[in-house]
Amino acid sequence: MRLLQPVFCVFGKHHRSRGRAWNDGSTFRSWCEGCGKPMIRDMRGWSVDPDPPVGKQH
Ligand SMILES: [Zn+2]
Repeated sequence: MRLLQPVFCVFGKHHRSRGRAWNDGSTFRSWCEGCGKPMIRDMRGWSVDPDPPVGKQH
């Protein structure tokens, strides 16, 4: 996580990391490259995960 959050994160447009996506069995998850928040992919695309799995981050 960077000290200075990128502008696109401030406006809610997080960029998930391409190389770090993983599948927990049913859902693809990754992290924002800018601020490090956990992200989840649903039918609408990638968004910030409001309830990330405990113990599986990084
Ligand atoms: Zn972000």
